[in-house]
Amino acid sequence: MNKRELLYGTGALTLLAGGAALFGGRAMTSAQAAAEGSFEITRSEDEWRTILTSAQFSVLREEATERPFTSPLNNEKRAGTFHCAGCDLAVYPSDTKYDSGTGWPSFWEALPNAVGTKPDNSLFMRRTECHCRRCGGHFGHIFDDGPPPTGKRHCINGLALSFKPSQA
Ligand SMILES: [Zn+2]
Repeated sequence: MNKRELLYGTGALTLLAGGAALFGGRAMTSAQAAAEGSFEITRSEDEWRTILTSAQFSVLREEATERPFTSPLNNEKRAGTFHCAGCDLAVYPSDTKYDSGTGWPSFWEALPNAVGTKPDNSLFMRRTECHCRRCGGHFGHIFDDGPPPTGKRHCINGLALSFKPSQA
């Protein structure tokens, strides 16, 4: 399966998924922000391509969105912590994860000082983009239809995360 198939799927799948979320914003990519030195960890495009898989690179550095219901992390229910796949910063605790039914790993709150946000007005929508505050890697978007206590839904690409179970 090549990268394009993996990330974008077929037209039919795109429609099923509601389509709009499948392509990330391009107004200001994480890579551009990183190039301006606004993140603690910065790497060249070549360095990121060495560290990340091509699918991870597309999400984290180019703001692509993975196909819904493709991430094994959707079904991850163990206690532990989700880390940035780019720089390994701990970003989401398992106890804020919930099943949103969207097909992407969803959380109602990030760890303190873990994520940054920016407005994303691409695709004729007004959304809040969410990224790693340390390396600028794109995670996903934050919506206002989440559960209590925050009412927020952090809709995150599984490709942008790695999971570390708690020590038993
Ligand atoms: Zn990071």
